[in-house]
Amino acid sequence: MPSSRAESSIPVTPVGPATAQTSPLPPIAAISFDADDTLWDFGASFAVAIAATAGRLRAEGLCRPGGPVTGEWLAELWTVASAAAEPGATLEAIRKASFTMALEECGQPARPERVAEMFTTYNETRWAAMKPFPEVVAVLGALAEHYPLAVTTNGNTDPAKVGLDHFSCVTSANESGYQKPDPRMFHRTAERLGVDPAHVLHVGDHLAHDALAARAAGLQACWLNRLGPGAESRAAAAAGIREIADLTALLQLR
Ligand SMILES: [Mg+2]
Repeated sequence: MPSSRAESSIPVTPVGPATAQTSPLPPIAAISFDADDTLWDFGASFAVAIAATAGRLRAEGLCRPGGPVTGEWLAELWTVASAAAEPGATLEAIRKASFTMALEECGQPARPERVAEMFTTYNETRWAAMKPFPEVVAVLGALAEHYPLAVTTNGNTDPAKVGLDHFSCVTSANESGYQKPDPRMFHRTAERLGVDPAHVLHVGDHLAHDALAARAAGLQACWLNRLGPGAESRAAAAAGIREIADLTALLQLR
C-alpha cells in the first residue's frame, strides 16, 4: 500500500450544476462496487437470458393459457413474484418463485429440480451475455494498483465470469444473508477488506440502496448515474451525495 494512499482524497468530478460540490471527501483505503448496472448492463443480459429460458420452454412444447411462453411474460411474472416476496427474499428466491408460477400456469408440476433447471438455463445464458461497461476493465485495473477492491451486491454475482478478477472479496445477498440497504452488508465487506468502514468508498448505481445506504452504514459513497441528471440528481445533491456519470471519474482518486 503506497504511503500516499492514506493522504488521498476524492475530488470526484460533479455531474451537472445540481451537484457542483468541490470539497474532497475524507481519505479512503479501499473501494467497494455494486455489480448490476454498475460494472455491467444487467438489463441487456437479462433480456437475452429470459428470452432463452422462454425459448427452452417453448421447445419443450409448453404453452400458457392465452398465448405462447415469451420472455416478456416471464419478466412480468418476475414483477409479480417481486411484489409478493417476503421482505429479505433473495433475488434467486424471487426468480425461482417466478419460474414456479410460470410452470404452474403452463399446467406443469413445478418440482424444485425443474425450477432449478430453469434457473440454471437463465443464469448460464445471462453470464454468457454479460459484458462489462466499456470503461470498467481499464478503471478497475488502474484502481487495483492502489486500493483493494470489493463487490457488494444483492445479485448472484461472480465477476470473474465476465473477466473481472480485480476483487479481493465479493459480498452477496445469497452468501451473507443480508441485502442492501442493510448496513450489515457494507460492514461485512469492510470486515473482509480489513478496512474501517469510514475508509471504504462504495460506488453504485442505486441512489438509495448503494449511495444513501452506504453512507448510513458509515462508509463513504459515490452515486453512479449513467442515465444523466434528473430528479434523483437533485435528491442526491440535496443529500450531499456525489454523482458520477461513469467510473472513469474514480481515476481522480490516484
Ligand atoms: Mg446496481
